[in-house]
Amino acid sequence: MPELPEVETTVRGLARHLAGQVLTHVETRRADLRRPFPPGLVQVLTGARVTGLARRAKYGLIHVDRDVTLIFHLGMSGRWRIDPDELGKHDHLVLETGSGHRLALCDPRRFGSVDLVDTAALAAWPAFAALGPEPLSDALAPAHLATALAGRSAAIKLMLLDQRIVAGLGNIYVCEALYRARIDPRRAAGTVSRAALGRLVPAIKAVLAEAIEAGGSTLRDYAQPDGELGYFAKQFDVYGREGEPCRSCSGTVRRIVQGGRSTWLCPNCQK
Ligand SMILES: [Zn+2]
Repeated sequence: MPELPEVETTVRGLARHLAGQVLTHVETRRADLRRPFPPGLVQVLTGARVTGLARRAKYGLIHVDRDVTLIFHLGMSGRWRIDPDELGKHDHLVLETGSGHRLALCDPRRFGSVDLVDTAALAAWPAFAALGPEPLSDALAPAHLATALAGRSAAIKLMLLDQRIVAGLGNIYVCEALYRARIDPRRAAGTVSRAALGRLVPAIKAVLAEAIEAGGSTLRDYAQPDGELGYFAKQFDVYGREGEPCRSCSGTVRRIVQGGRSTWLCPNCQK
């Protein structure tokens, strides 16, 4: 499932081909993904100029000069294809630009979504209105977490997955950040010390920034047709490494289940 770094890498890759471009052809090739495509999508976007791209949590934003923003979510299996040789049956939305590029949103499982929102009203869009701060912004600071987690008895791991506390964090990077900050994922959120929160915030920012950088280096190889944006191999410290040696001590990485999802941790290193 694409997480924040993959979405950020995707947005940066799309920006190379879309920023400043006029959308000369816009096509939906079925009626819906997880939800129907917005009515009027093709009419509103055709002939519009892309004024900029951005990311909010795990959503990609394509701003156009008609005061609207296309918001996409990659769901479980979504990805953008740049200049595919030919369109496939999972390419559900196609954008063509004045510079001759074709971008296809491919989503075999169709858990993704596309919305069209007034640019001036983005902050009030329901999926954005309740979001916590962006993890890579200065708004995510130890003081914010101390306030948000005070008195909370839920496990710190589950609280970090709550998008109202931090926007866009998913399972992989929460596991990795808690390991790097040496915090037990099972610890009641309200009992995590201020010193530990002081380690956690830079750990969150570092694991995300490293993943984005890894994606960016992969991106340089995307000259070939059918290049897919947003997926890259990354070495994780604990995620997916059950039974393998901890990289920091002589212990072994364990997998537990929290809130119905796997957590990987080193019980020696994380307290
Ligand atoms: Zn360890």
